[in-house]
Amino acid sequence: MNIKMVDLKGQYDKIKTEIDAGIQEVIDSTAFINGPKVQEFSKNLSNYLGGVNVVPCANGTDALQIALMVLGLNPGDEVILPVHTYVATAEVIALLKLKPVFVDVNSEDFNINISLIEEKINPNTKAIVPVHLYGQCADMEVIMQIASKYNLFVIEDAAQAIGAVYTFSDGKKAIAGTIGDIGTTSFFPSKNLGCYGDGGALFVKNNELAKKCKMIANHGQSIKYNHEIVGCNSRLDTIQAAILDVKLKYLDDYSAARQLAAKLYDELLKSVKGIKTPKISKKSTHVYHQYTLILDKFINRNAMQDFLKEKGIPTMIYYPIPLYKQKAYIKESYTEDLFPVTEKLANSVLSLPIHTEITGEEQEFVVSSIIEFLNQ
Ligand SMILES: *Cc1c(COP(=O)(O)O)cnc(C)c1O
Repeated sequence: MNIKMVDLKGQYDKIKTEIDAGIQEVIDSTAFINGPKVQEFSKNLSNYLGGVNVVPCANGTDALQIALMVLGLNPGDEVILPVHTYVATAEVIALLKLKPVFVDVNSEDFNINISLIEEKINPNTKAIVPVHLYGQCADMEVIMQIASKYNLFVIEDAAQAIGAVYTFSDGKKAIAGTIGDIGTTSFFPSKNLGCYGDGGALFVKNNELAKKCKMIANHGQSIKYNHEIVGCNSRLDTIQAAILDVKLKYLDDYSAARQLAAKLYDELLKSVKGIKTPKISKKSTHVYHQYTLILDKFINRNAMQDFLKEKGIPTMIYYPIPLYKQKAYIKESYTEDLFPVTEKLANSVLSLPIHTEITGEEQEFVVSSIIEFLNQ
């Protein structure tokens, strides 16, 4: 068996005709930069998200950077984020000379621990960047309440959770990335809505702010050669937009396929000792960008990974070294007891292969191999 973490070829084969036609159309038009497909896709994504402004850009990291640039923060302003996340979230904060302030996460849903946010807030705090990790929304209702109490901006990093639905206590629903002031996402190939290269987008509620994001992504201009603000160059290629426009139609089917696969893993792993399967929060659907286990201390994770690898089963650790221990972000004041959950997760998480094309047979092989390892 040749099991993959993601099967982009298998997914492509099913929509090849549409994708190839979309790419060919762009080549024939030679509108490689800012072609009509970029606007078309942005419009369609906006409709999918319930009408929020969509500003396309070059990748998910740029989306975060532009989101922070547009807020008009000053050097030294503090931005709160979960410490258990991909480096990009912290990187853009530091890059703009803002101060990343790490908060530990929950061991249940892996997202920012809302009960630890307020103690990090001081007069320099300007924004919170919750990350919807592995495909499930952070507790946005409480985060928005805290933000409103302290007058903070909220930027949702929805790179792993496009299409996940959050339910408020009054029953209202909203899609990941459309709740805060700005949401950001990535179209990196392996993301749930991935293109065939780099891509990203911002979801911006406020029309003026959206216009400004668009300007920043385009050298700070809205009229050619009139540079009103300092910007950057961050564009979604037309070919990538054409690909994304095809794949957007299938996004809900893709999420459903991931959810079905997760359900089967849940079932197969139910009675396996020492393994905790992902918990679904009552407030958010899960789109399973990752299916991440927590392994008990007695399980040798490295040995298990090697054993599975021998059998052709890839696994991944997201993320093996917590951000507060990374050389670029380390501070003398950081100690392990500040972030006990993140510390534990770094040593115990393991993500299994999950994607839109995975078969039940493959999943059964993954789980029987895990059991074989545990029984040896
Ligand atoms: C992938 C990812 C990003 C960055 O996206 P790129 O398109 O690779 O720049 C940011 N945040 C999170 C949580 C991600 O998973």
